Amino acid sequence: MGPRLVIFGRQGAGKGTQCAFLVDHYGAVHVSTGDMLREAVAAGTEFGAQARTFMDAGQLLPDEVMVGVVRERLGAPDVADAGFLLDGFPRTLPQAEALCAIVAVDLAINLEVDEAIARERMLARGRGDDTPEAIEERLAAYASQTVPAIAWFESQGNLVTVDGIGTPEEVSTRLVEAIDRRLGE
Ligand code: AMP
Repeated sequence: MGPRLVIFGRQGAGKGTQCAFLVDHYGAVHVSTGDMLREAVAAGTEFGAQARTFMDAGQLLPDEVMVGVVRERLGAPDVADAGFLLDGFPRTLPQAEALCAIVAVDLAINLEVDEAIARERMLARGRGDDTPEAIEERLAAYASQTVPAIAWFESQGNLVTVDGIGTPEEVSTRLVEAIDRRLGE
């Protein structure tokens, strides 16, 4: 059974790069709710069309919808064997509570990059949903909704915070050190 990890980080924190590294390093399955939603949008499903209106506005989809998506994904056999790195979920306190009723999480990781730097990086990458308004909306949602979910893992003694500033290699090294230290305890 592989590790069951959750990673938090603002968009623009370099989370995508580090997730690719971590799933390779630990052999876990990358479960990214943002990627799953973008796939649904690209596939042109009814669900994708609904998801898109939220995503383009920088708003979160309803908790019950996301909990359903994640419950189904974490129930699949590949995840049961290899473990997972959950990315983009939970985004709210109710999602965090629902997750822990679904599965025991070994460790939550907070990849910390401050708001000003995250804003700068999102503006620089110029993705389709990176309009200045959507960026501000996302940062505000992170502060008001996701920070409480992070605090909840911390209150359970199940969070490690890692500084996300540095070269990708420096940050990867820091992450593995922090994760191995905590998983080895
Ligand atoms: P991400 O790539 O993780 O930043 O996700 C892109 C967009 O998908 C977000 O801005 C939200 O609109 C939506 N989304 C992804 N994960 C969640 C979630 N756990 N809860 C609500 N909305 C989500």
